[in-house]
Amino acid sequence: MERKSGSLCFQVASLFLLFLTALVAAKGQNPDRPRTFDVKHYAIHISFDRDKKIVYGDTTVELTPLSAPLNSVDLDAIGLKFSKVTMSPRESPLTYRTSDGQIAINLDRSYSPGENISLRFNYSITDPKKGVYFIDAEKAANKFQHPAQIWTQNEPEDGRYWFPSFDFPSDKATSEEFITVQKGEVAVGNGRLIDNVQNADGTVTYHYRMNVPHSTYLTSFVVGDFIKLSDKYKDIPLGFYAYADRRRVAGIAFSRTKEMMEDFEALTGISFPFEKYDQAMVAGFQDFDGMENVTATTLADTSVLFAEYPFGKPIVENLVSHELAHSWFGDMVTCKNWSELWLNEGFATFMEAAFREKAYGRANYIQTLIQDRDEFIADDAVSKNRHPLRNLSAKADNSLFDVTTYQKGGVVLHMLRETVGDAAFWKGVNIYLSRHKFDNVVSSDLQSAMEQASGQKLQWFFDQWVYAAGYPKLEVTWMNDSAPGGLKITVNQAQKSDGMTPAAFQFPLDVTLLTESGPVLQTLKITKRVESFTINEARPVKSIEIDKSEKILLKSVKIK
Ligand SMILES: [Zn+2]
Repeated sequence: MERKSGSLCFQVASLFLLFLTALVAAKGQNPDRPRTFDVKHYAIHISFDRDKKIVYGDTTVELTPLSAPLNSVDLDAIGLKFSKVTMSPRESPLTYRTSDGQIAINLDRSYSPGENISLRFNYSITDPKKGVYFIDAEKAANKFQHPAQIWTQNEPEDGRYWFPSFDFPSDKATSEEFITVQKGEVAVGNGRLIDNVQNADGTVTYHYRMNVPHSTYLTSFVVGDFIKLSDKYKDIPLGFYAYADRRRVAGIAFSRTKEMMEDFEALTGISFPFEKYDQAMVAGFQDFDGMENVTATTLADTSVLFAEYPFGKPIVENLVSHELAHSWFGDMVTCKNWSELWLNEGFATFMEAAFREKAYGRANYIQTLIQDRDEFIADDAVSKNRHPLRNLSAKADNSLFDVTTYQKGGVVLHMLRETVGDAAFWKGVNIYLSRHKFDNVVSSDLQSAMEQASGQKLQWFFDQWVYAAGYPKLEVTWMNDSAPGGLKITVNQAQKSDGMTPAAFQFPLDVTLLTESGPVLQTLKITKRVESFTINEARPVKSIEIDKSEKILLKSVKIK
């Protein structure tokens, strides 16, 4: 997901809640969700009554018990009014009850691991509060016009508002959608379009199939009167769905998708992992700019329109590259639980900069990351919800999508790249993606891939940058030593040490000594909160520069 640029409206936890969650985290809260079964496939049939804002659902969930025999199945479902629950294929009725956002189904007998269970649900949702959004057409001449549309937004856990599901990222399943729309409309779903069939009543049913397993939060559809711009990258069909009168600007926003795919394949060494890649602009996308629904990214129309203006070009490029990067980081390899969301969002944010490096050079890459760093530092000073990148106090709501998870995540990946070196970093990325392809990940999976690629132990790096919060606030004093040929430098880490922020970070610190006969580079090994170094330098030093090439990007420096 991409946060709205410049407008952050995140929930602020009360001090009491913060205190409570800190306690839970300290006690080792398990961020995983236990499962007694594995969902294999969702087949979702969806149709609509637009006037009454009703969604009609007919969903079959195929699953298998995981370890012990299974007598009942609990699925997430909120606001779904069930008319029938049956066991497929015989369609024998099953008893069930709904409570606390779940439907509990009593199976007809006990099932063992390896057996397949196919549950079919008929239901309707009237005026859905989340998950599915009905957007009226806007036709007023003085307003931004758009056609009527219906679209979904699941992440983090709103899929349960439109189909019964195990709505947590650790459960991956294949999926199929049958979306029935009015004549003249199109439906964009996940995976390959199998067919679209004209029905006797004039409606059209689009059938999409997603053949590789993906997390529930990535299931989506977009319905509306759109035109489609088409292209191809290798044998991957690309589509961009836009309003008919926005063809030109959509074309600009869409135009670099192929180049980004080529760059990301080259950097990761992994081919684009899915059968197609669609992007669709939608109206009323609220607090976010885009969402990486698998093979079918949703983009806020207001953000796509930035492509019209020179100042907006980088904004749209960052948005398109961010969501595309999620195909590898998030959709193919997915955080195992919400405390590990930085593995999705930090990588997607970092890949925005990586695309800029390919397209515009190293200085542009660094500048992009400096902006991310500055945004994080500003946020860290005022945030009431500070947390390490691995966020054990994560709650499954929009507070997940914060500056730490995105901007700090991207900056830390840059520092990891600087620590292990360019070749080892991208080799590590390749190992990480290959080893966990279509599976779930935690931070230690990234660590072990990077250790394998670099031959370095990286526990110290992950301890301070991933499992701890904050950053070093350096106060550097220096003086030409009274003894001839010496320079004394003292580096003080002034960050306030608390339960989350280390008193001392460790890192190599480049110091450039500016002498009369030119610059001299020295690297200091920082391991303590206060450390003094004496450097042999015969020529008098006029001034010093700290970390000129931004290897340790996440820090602040005061030179005294
Ligand atoms: Zn994202």
